[in-house]
Amino acid sequence: MNASDVIVLGAGLAGLSAARDLAAAGVDVRVLEARGRVGGRVEQTELADGRLVQLGGEVVGPSHTAYTQLVDELGLTLVPAFAGLPGDDVWVLADGTYRGEGIPWFSDDDRRSYEVAERAFGDLVRSVDPDDPWTHPDAARLDALSVGQWLREVGATPNVVRARDVAMLALAAESVERTSLLSDLRKEAAVGATGFYDYDVWEVSRVGEGSATVALRMAAELGHRITLGAVVDRVSLSTQGCTVTLVSGECFTAGAVISTIPAGPLRSIRIDGLSDARRASLDRQRHALTSKVTAAYSDSFWAADGLNGTAYAEVGMLGGTWVQRDGILSALVPPERQSAFLSTSPERLHEELLDELVAAFGPRARDVHQLAVRRWAIDPFTLGYITSWRPGDVMGVGPLHGTHEPPLYVAGSDQWVCGYMEGAVRTGRAAAAAVIAQGG
Ligand SMILES: Cc1cc2nc3c(=O)[nH]c(=O)nc-3n(C[C@H](O)[C@H](O)[C@H](O)COP(=O)(O)OP(=O)(O)OC[C@H]3O[C@@H](n4cnc5c(N)ncnc54)[C@H](O)[C@@H]3O)c2cc1C
Repeated sequence: MNASDVIVLGAGLAGLSAARDLAAAGVDVRVLEARGRVGGRVEQTELADGRLVQLGGEVVGPSHTAYTQLVDELGLTLVPAFAGLPGDDVWVLADGTYRGEGIPWFSDDDRRSYEVAERAFGDLVRSVDPDDPWTHPDAARLDALSVGQWLREVGATPNVVRARDVAMLALAAESVERTSLLSDLRKEAAVGATGFYDYDVWEVSRVGEGSATVALRMAAELGHRITLGAVVDRVSLSTQGCTVTLVSGECFTAGAVISTIPAGPLRSIRIDGLSDARRASLDRQRHALTSKVTAAYSDSFWAADGLNGTAYAEVGMLGGTWVQRDGILSALVPPERQSAFLSTSPERLHEELLDELVAAFGPRARDVHQLAVRRWAIDPFTLGYITSWRPGDVMGVGPLHGTHEPPLYVAGSDQWVCGYMEGAVRTGRAAAAAVIAQGG
């Protein structure tokens, strides 16, 4: 039998940051990770010329303080991400391709309507406590409304709704028609924002050494405490001691368990000793499904054409692009386009993705060194991307969201308001602190 004080399920940013704090506090901790690598939804590969390509999480904003603090502790550096790059955006729309700073289909009326709607959104954001949206006096109504419904309710023009939807597609978030207004308000409240999702708030920095290096550094510190290839099948919880059983049949025991397993894979793990209410809340969470595409070129050729590498795509499979680093474009496939994406043969997919990049950035986009495709949506140990909240989901998951039921503690980006690397690190470290406060 393998015994330790605490078992952490999953070696993504949440699990690793929890285990690192526990180890630093002298707690005997073991991390069980299903894959043959650490990092979870942060992963990187190296090109022949040494450039690292991020296949998962990349960028953060200034209010992502748990993440930036960790980066600092690990001796890594933050560098500017794409948000400040000069040049025009590209819009690949059903009726043609446009370039420029503003939204191409907006009239003056639409611009005014957008400002009015954003001000009203900001007023509502200020009324929501991100840590407790449930006690908002209008919580149930705000949660039942989709962002799209609410926009129409406050008189936004159809062109404004379209603009918000295209912005969500580029992020591979769910459509505004399928997103709870309360969840969106909570998300912006959590980062102190007062407007719609903005790259300048969420996507201004990246780790210069590679975002997956954050996980690799923590794993190097944790060393033998991590067991790879350990697929968790069952957890049995008791104040007398917890047992974690792997698919292989191997068992591990500990006084407490921190689960950082994403919502989808967690549903197939049997957990004995957990209250029905807690299990129901965990199982109620959903994910937006995405796949990520990266296109590596010899240089940032789009800059010579006065473009900044950011594209918004209303048609095709990619929701949009942004510059990951010199010569490398990143793109996400939104949930509603996964069916076309996942059912296309690899050869055909390669051609069609290049066609889409050419439509946005011209013929040089075909001279790609490496086109990488990462199908996170169907990866059995992720089954998703970021938490998505359909109308009714915030109330459905309820105030148990992100709370612990010792000896089971929960962490991971799903346990923060809206996902992201910040959510992983913040909840991972908070779970470790909660375990330590209970006496390890
Ligand atoms: C394509 C993509 C782009 C993203 N872009 C950004 C971005 O730019 N900025 C940002 O902040 N966030 C981004 N994110 C989100 C961010 O990467 C994640 O929210 C964060 O990394 C999740 O960390 P975690 O530790 O909570 O979960 P994970 O990283 O998913 O870790 C969970 C771990 O549990 C393991 N596991 C699963 N099942 C089992 C099992 N049965 N037994 C044992 N182990 C198991 C998994 O293998 C995994 O290692 C992106 C995510 C994706 C997929």
